[in-house]
Amino acid sequence: MQKKIAVLPGDGIGTEVTRGAVEILKAVADRYGHDFQFEYGLIGGTAIDQTGNPLPEDTISLCKDSDAVLLGAVGGPKWDSNPSHLRPEKGLLGIRKQLNLYANLRPISFYASLSEASPLRKEIIQDADFMIVRELTGGLYFGKPSGRTMESGQETVVDTLLYHRYEIKRIIELAFSLAEQRRGKVTSVDKANVLESSKLWREVAEEVSKDYPNVALEHMLVDNAAMQLIRNPRQFDVVVTENMFGDILSDEASVLTGSLGMLPSASISSKGPNLYEPIHGSAPDIAGQNKANPIAAILSAASMLRNSFGLEQEAQAVEAAVEAVLEAGFRTADLSGSGTNTLSTEQMAEEIKISM
Ligand code: ATP
Ligand code: MG
Repeated sequence: MQKKIAVLPGDGIGTEVTRGAVEILKAVADRYGHDFQFEYGLIGGTAIDQTGNPLPEDTISLCKDSDAVLLGAVGGPKWDSNPSHLRPEKGLLGIRKQLNLYANLRPISFYASLSEASPLRKEIIQDADFMIVRELTGGLYFGKPSGRTMESGQETVVDTLLYHRYEIKRIIELAFSLAEQRRGKVTSVDKANVLESSKLWREVAEEVSKDYPNVALEHMLVDNAAMQLIRNPRQFDVVVTENMFGDILSDEASVLTGSLGMLPSASISSKGPNLYEPIHGSAPDIAGQNKANPIAAILSAASMLRNSFGLEQEAQAVEAAVEAVLEAGFRTADLSGSGTNTLSTEQMAEEIKISM
């Protein structure tokens, strides 16, 4: 299989963990006889330094011209006092918009060998394995009107939670098709006892569910969902929800299984390539020290193999290698416990490559 992959390492540990992920993709190409071409683009602070723009035109066209995008992370203290149009995050928001990335997928998996890293008791968290599907281009963060006015002599503010039926339908369909390949359960999270948008959300979820007889649908109010994630995370398979609810729930879920350095994400496009990135940021505190955990980036690459290229076997090989390396006691500094072997970023990527 021949594929072109746009690689945007970005800033801080983004460059270090992306290097590890590219190494793994190269190893997959060698092993399974694929031809992956890697082309590099600038984004974030590094792009500002070199071009004066956090998202240069070249980067946009490179991405649109590729089969998938692998991103590291953007930002760092060096650019913190920049004016708003010269902020690294502009690059990230810009590329999401340019590629029409309407859904963000965050798989949350429990690793038995890392159970000490979870804030939850082992019997509650063990075997938890679910996916949060967050709507990314609509809802409360984008609805108009939004702003501040004066009314009756005092400041008055408004934000609008706006959705069109097609936006709800495509994200719910995505959730069902993912559930079909997993354990066959969708939990649709809303606030239908209060919000009109949630009432339509529920109706559409019911409609879509008729096309997926093998997938069970349940509805859950968002406040209850926040509690259930902690009380009994094992009940979930695929969780689908509105932009802001998803923002909050996915951050909550991200701490359940341990380190940020373990969690990948995929952002799905309505027409162009999908984008894959670790959920963590550029981690200025450890940047340049070759000690960042590359696993989130490597698992993001596995997600690319599965979701953009349909290479399920290859994706599973990468995931199994990660698990094997953890089982064997190898750790990066963020995961270190007693009786373990602490590796650098490069060494961790190398161990995963060897055990593939
Ligand atoms: P951003 O605003 O870019 O999202 P952030 O302030 O949320 O950044 P991160 O950059 O994600 O933070 O880092 C949060 C903490 O987690 C830091 O202490 C960082 O060192 C640690 N961390 C994040 N990613 C990793 C990783 N891959 N390996 C090791 N530690 C990490
Ligand atoms: Mg953050």
